[in-house]
Formats: sequence, C-alpha cells, structure tokens
Amino acid sequence: MVIEMVNPYDVAVHQFDEAAERLGLSQAMRAILRKPKRELIVNFPVRMDNGDVEMFTGYRVQHNINRGPAKGGIRYSPAVSLDEVRALAMWMTWKCAVVDIPFGGAKGGVICDPHLMSSAELERMTRRYTTEISLLIGPDSDIPAPDMNTNPQIMGWIMDTYSMHRGYSVPAVTTGKPLAIGGSEGRLEATARGVQVVTREAIRDKGWQPENCSVVVQGFGNVGGIAARLLHEMGCKVVGISDISGGLYNPNGIDVPAAMRHSRRNGSLKGYAEADAVSNTELLELPCDILIPAALENQLTERNAPRIKARLIVEAANGPTTNEADAILNDMGVTLIPDILANAGGVTVSYFEWVQDLQRFFWAEDEINNRLEMIMKRSYKAVKTKADEQEVNMRMGAYLLAVARVAEATEIRGVYP
Ligand code: NAD
Repeated sequence: MVIEMVNPYDVAVHQFDEAAERLGLSQAMRAILRKPKRELIVNFPVRMDNGDVEMFTGYRVQHNINRGPAKGGIRYSPAVSLDEVRALAMWMTWKCAVVDIPFGGAKGGVICDPHLMSSAELERMTRRYTTEISLLIGPDSDIPAPDMNTNPQIMGWIMDTYSMHRGYSVPAVTTGKPLAIGGSEGRLEATARGVQVVTREAIRDKGWQPENCSVVVQGFGNVGGIAARLLHEMGCKVVGISDISGGLYNPNGIDVPAAMRHSRRNGSLKGYAEADAVSNTELLELPCDILIPAALENQLTERNAPRIKARLIVEAANGPTTNEADAILNDMGVTLIPDILANAGGVTVSYFEWVQDLQRFFWAEDEINNRLEMIMKRSYKAVKTKADEQEVNMRMGAYLLAVARVAEATEIRGVYP
C-alpha cells in the first residue's frame, strides 16, 4: 500500500533538484538532467506452457549516456512501472558517477510475476523482451544486468538471444552472467560486498566495533542475504532478517548461514525455528545499531521513520527511503549511507566484467575483490569528505559529487547540433 502512494520518479527528481540547486546548475542543465534521454515501451506476446498467448509489457529507459554506455539492471515484478524504471535509470546515472566508472544510467523491467511462471515461460518471455529492446541494448550502447527477480541464468538468455541475432557471441552485452559464458568472478557477491565495505567504514568513523553492532537486514535475496552473511562473518550480530514471506528476530543473533540453508531448502525464510516471526513492518523498527533495507523502494516513510531505532542506515536497496523519511531521519541524527553509494559494488564489478569480456582477458577473484574494495573505500571517503566540507548529509554529499560529474561531461560534450 505504501509503495503505491509514493512515486519513485518523484523521489528521484526531488533528490536531483536539491543537489542541482546547491550546485547552482543552470536552468538548461537542470532541464537536460531531469529527463531520461530515451524511453522504450514494448508490448509483446509470449506463448505460455498451456498453449495460451499472454501479452506482457516491458520497458528500457536510458537516463543519461554522457559519461559512457548506458548501464543498469532488469527487474521482473508485478509492481514494475514506467516511473519506477525512470527513477531506477536516473539513480544508475548518479551511482556510476559516484564510483567514477565510465557508464551512464539505464534500467529495464517487465510487468510479470516470475514466481507464477515456469522456467520455460520465463525463458521465452526473456528472449522475446530481449529481442524487443535490442533496438537499444548492445555492448557499446546499453548493457543490462540482474536486478530484482532476475539472475545469472536470465542474463545468459539475454546474451544468447542477442548473440543469435548477430550470428556470433557477444558476451559484453550483459553483465552478471554465469562464469561459463564470460561472467566475472565475484559478481554474484559484489553488491553485498560493497555494502559490507561502506558499512565497515561507517562503523570505523563512528568509533564503533563490529562485535558490538547489532544489524537488521530487510530482504534476503542476492543483496540482502549475502550482505547479512558477510556482516555476520565480520563479527556483527545480525538480529533481524526478512524476505517477502515475513521477518525473523532473535536479539541474541541469528545464525545467518543456517537461515540461508533453510531458505534454500524451503524457498523462503518462513518456518525458520531459531528466531521469532515478525512482520516486515515490525522488522524495520526493531532495536538495532544498523538497519540495511535490501528489498525494494519506499520502505522508510514518514509513518515509520520516527520509530526507527537504528543509528546507521545503509541503503542496499534502491530508493528505500522517501523524501519525507529522509528529512525525519536526518533531524533524528541518523547517519544514512545512500543507495547510489551503498549498493554501487554491483555496477562496479559489472564494469570489471564488461572490460574482461571486451578484452577476452579474465582476472582472478582476489584481484576483483581488491579493486572493488579500493573503489568502494575511495568513493565512501570522497562522499564523506564532500558531506563534511559542505556540512550536508551523506546523500547530499553523494549527489553533489555525482551530479557535478555528469553535468561536467554534459557541458563539455555540448548541445548537439
Ligand atoms: P532479489 O530478487 O535477489 O531479492 C529481493 C529480496 O527482497 C527477496 O528476499 C524478496 O523475498 C525480498 N522482498 C521482496 N518484496 C519484499 C517485501 N515487500 N518485503 C520484504 N522483503 C521483500 O533482488 P536483489 O538483487 O537482492 O535486489 C534487492 C534490492 O537491491 C533492489 O532494490 C535492487 O534494485 C537493489 N540492487 C541490486 C543489485 C544487484 O546486483 N542485484 C545492485 C544494486 C542494487
């Protein structure tokens, strides 16, 4: 219900406007950067297993490509909308700029419920959607990656479909692929690893010790599940976790690897016995030092923000905090590491994967993890320094860095013709 009330694109534009104002960008530059460059809507038929033909709607939006090819994930969900994809595309532009990798921002999505589809239906839908958006995607133009409900197998189908149309293999058209077809070591864990690095840096800045920190993570998928595991391994006490089936709380700490095994075996966290069941609403308000929303948008709102106990929030999901909640949490003195920094580890290793595919030269996992750590630490420091210098919070610090970089590239390239 909350999700429908807040339009993520309004949230994204508001965040941009505030940064643009502070940076003193010209009205022309603001007008250029406020709007996505390209938006493609595709309606296409898919034959279902029972022989029926169903129509699906999908999107691919490129927000800005002045710093490099468009980059961004593909999401499968019943809640996908053009405005959601626009917001996610804009956030990708800023994210690539925060970590200073040479990509612009894009995003895609299909309105569907993948949990109600067979693997064969999902494959046919993916291949047809790929064909429909191949007007835009390509290794030099726009490179998709996984997002909610999409995974390495789906990236493999996209890569194969694109390659079939070309007549030769084009591994660099997607990232987040399986290793066997040009994926990168470390990509699966990359987003969560980035979350771990920035969380560790923030813990250090606060003078805390990981062993004394309790953590709540919302979402137990690629990002949330692995982030919970890495923070558990770092010595933090993970007291709350959740997935779409609900939340779990144990003030003495949850054995995250055991919860992961349960989730893999049963398809969800539901029924895990070593913790108390809580609702997803209650989960966000649990007593803890660090809260990591890692599921979807609009989870922290003006309604629950005043009841948040965490002193540090790390936005592993994209857009989990509404503008109203952002202001409330800021006034409460909560430190918030914004999505465009916190979850940038994924696109950073996607960049490594793309470079490896183009060069046909692959790196070892420790090399990838070291480079990722270096970029995340450097970006965290740059954002923190900017925020401290300008006496603003970390979100504004990240936006000031990112928007200035994109505006500079846009200014230098000029207005064509
Ligand atoms: P995923 O599909 O692997 O996992 C999503 C998790 O959220 C699942 O555990 C699901 O059960 C849970 N969930 C879904 N709806 C929920 C609800 N209403 N309440 C509570 N939990 C719910 O997706 P992911 O790739 O982990 O992505 C999660 C977030 O991270 C998204 O916002 C995505 O845009 C962002 N992100 C992902 C990547 C990446 O590399 N995968 C990179 C950057 C950002």
